[in-house]
Amino acid sequence: MCTRGIGRRRAGVVASRLVAGCAAVLITACAADGTAGSRPSSPARSAAPSSSASPAPLPPPGVLPRPGEVGAISSTGGLPPVISSIPTKRKVVFLTIDDGWEQDPGFVQQVRDQRIPITAFVMRDAVEAKGTPDQSGGPARYVGAGKWSYFRKLQAAGVPVENHTLTHPNLRLLGHEAQRAEICGASRLVKQRLGSRPTLFRPPFGNYNTDTLRAAKACGLSAVLLWTATVQPGGKIAYQVPDKKLRPGDILLLHFRPNLARDFRILVNKIKRRGFELGNLEAYLKAARAGAQ
Ligand SMILES: [Zn+2]
Repeated sequence: MCTRGIGRRRAGVVASRLVAGCAAVLITACAADGTAGSRPSSPARSAAPSSSASPAPLPPPGVLPRPGEVGAISSTGGLPPVISSIPTKRKVVFLTIDDGWEQDPGFVQQVRDQRIPITAFVMRDAVEAKGTPDQSGGPARYVGAGKWSYFRKLQAAGVPVENHTLTHPNLRLLGHEAQRAEICGASRLVKQRLGSRPTLFRPPFGNYNTDTLRAAKACGLSAVLLWTATVQPGGKIAYQVPDKKLRPGDILLLHFRPNLARDFRILVNKIKRRGFELGNLEAYLKAARAGAQ
């Protein structure tokens, strides 16, 4: 089970405290953002340069920030900023999915066909099915785990694949060098397997310290991403704020779990019913970082 608390100061930045161990739970769901229809085989973003005369690339999935919409996210001491939500007043939220134990092909199709904006944070032992899956989200079958090709398909569907360590340790218990080995090792592996180097880092359990930020910087990562709410099996949102409401700029955390496509559909419908859109996290982060300069 995960218990974690995240400090949410102003809309935007920094998560102050995190919690202690918790493994993965969540699932996610999200459906289309209402932008475009399906174009099954046209990647919005691809790691590999396209060599043939393919049609013009689609724009990134999800809503993009309007000029002046996003507040600044600045870093301190030259270290990557720690971000738990995006500073905006627009009713937009962001979907992130962690680990990689369950590799449901139906979910890839859903993301591709409905142009759903998500960001994946992968962990080697999950993707390669080396460890013991967390069971806290319900009975798990972990269908198809063990393949990087699953993430190549997601990447081709416009999903950035980011860094979530090699073995999912509690980084607070590790020294700087060990943290660096976990973080840099994961970035190297993603680059090797998928062709693009991660720019974002999500610490397992949300646990980090200054050594984590130093290591992330040394490994070429530009920001540490936390979250403001988790999504449980069945698409239920578990908020980490007292009023239990979605807020503009919220970052939701799910996991690659069984029934992800179904739960994703429930979640996305719920988000839309509440009047929120799904945003393109990378575009919003870019706008926030630009605003800090
Ligand atoms: Zn995780």
